[in-house]
Amino acid sequence: MLSPEFQVPSPASRAQLEIWDRQHVWHAFTQMAEYQPLMIERAEGCTLYDIDGNGYLDGVSSLWCNVHGHRHPRLDAAICGQIDRVAHVTNLGASNPTTIQLARRLTEIAPRGLNRVFFSSDGACAVEAAIKMALQYWRQRSDPRPEKTLYAAFDAAYHGDTLGSVSVSGVDRFQAIFKPLLFDVLRLPCPSLAQALSHSLGRLESTLAEQHAQIAALVVEPLIQCAAGMMTHPPGFLRGVRELCSKYNLLLIADEVATGFGRTGRMFACQHEDVAPDILCLGKGLTAGYLPMAATLTTDEVWRAFLGKYAESKTFCHGHTYGGNPLAAAVALASLDIFEQQHVLENLQPKIARLTEHLTRLAELPNVGGVRQCGFIAGIELVRDKATREPFPWAEQRGFAVCAVAKRHGVLLRPLGDVIVIMPPLAVTTEELDRICAAVEAGIGTLMAGLPSRTA
Ligand SMILES: *Cc1c(COP(=O)(O)O)cnc(C)c1O
Repeated sequence: MLSPEFQVPSPASRAQLEIWDRQHVWHAFTQMAEYQPLMIERAEGCTLYDIDGNGYLDGVSSLWCNVHGHRHPRLDAAICGQIDRVAHVTNLGASNPTTIQLARRLTEIAPRGLNRVFFSSDGACAVEAAIKMALQYWRQRSDPRPEKTLYAAFDAAYHGDTLGSVSVSGVDRFQAIFKPLLFDVLRLPCPSLAQALSHSLGRLESTLAEQHAQIAALVVEPLIQCAAGMMTHPPGFLRGVRELCSKYNLLLIADEVATGFGRTGRMFACQHEDVAPDILCLGKGLTAGYLPMAATLTTDEVWRAFLGKYAESKTFCHGHTYGGNPLAAAVALASLDIFEQQHVLENLQPKIARLTEHLTRLAELPNVGGVRQCGFIAGIELVRDKATREPFPWAEQRGFAVCAVAKRHGVLLRPLGDVIVIMPPLAVTTEELDRICAAVEAGIGTLMAGLPSRTA
């Protein structure tokens, strides 16, 4: 691949890189005053190697996006093949064969009716596009409803970090400071696992019955609210939400940025409940964790509202420079080939069962208040007191303490507060999964040993 005159820059020393990392790189969601550099230099399969050559199992799929492992020969080859043709083509009024084929493939595997694909670059962008698309749809359709400008979303939802996606999100810790910049959202209570499904749907219906005339769309993370701490919804809830959205004439936006591409055991979480949203947001695993790409899929009905003569100004005036990038599209297409040809979803089922076994064991540990699982996504909630489920003071960062121990056992994780996340690449082996869970167990064990005595 490399032309003979290409020179790999001579590697700076580890110490120098650490200094530059602290001096110049502003890391996402990281308190830089306390940042401890961790430099991953290369990877192979489900193992990441730091600059000193230490290997770590990738227990959270490089933040929920890796699917088939790192340095997968077919994925690597797909990018090389595309780079020999063209690396980037604008999506504004132009196209390329690879991106066209990916759009076609996505419409084939997505829930029924989602025939139109709008590409962008990150999950937040996919949600942002969905929000704007919904508003413009109601204004421009043949029977316009311009008063529909309100969005409904669930408590503790997470839909990304751009202003629109933060507005529909409900994680207070992330968004409180930005309140002056956000638009008002109709906040819906999360379904209660303790109560009957009919109770949660009844509560939702009474809100929608009252306000539906103003609501453009309801945004939901299907089955599991990941960033909220892996909060699972009761079976049947998504289906009920779909029925209520249809009954009260609002668009259903399903944010499958985290759950898409096999994480829940099916290609998309919506498929567990045979639900087709009006708008589907995809990101993270779309390129198997290789390159930034996201997509917002919608129906012919929504799409038609944007058609007209140029002068009618019905165009969807939204886009990102790298939307539909062919390198990303090439690797996404290759990933879908692997799903199909290597029977990834079938092979995943025994690993999901194995994960359930591990979680059942971990649930018994003294400082575990509960475990939650949705397919190959798991959350383990740490508590100070198992009986009362009293949490640890959040500033103690017990989740990070557990993950620090797991790291010493050769497993990289990133918690959500006091919820330990296990979300490895779908390609992880059973033996690797066992090692990840053992490292988590070791971490939780030391946490308990280090607990100040409650009676002291
Ligand atoms: C990660 C995530 C997003 C945001 O995706 P980015 O690529 O980080 O912008 C949106 N929605 C959900 C459900 C996510 O988990």
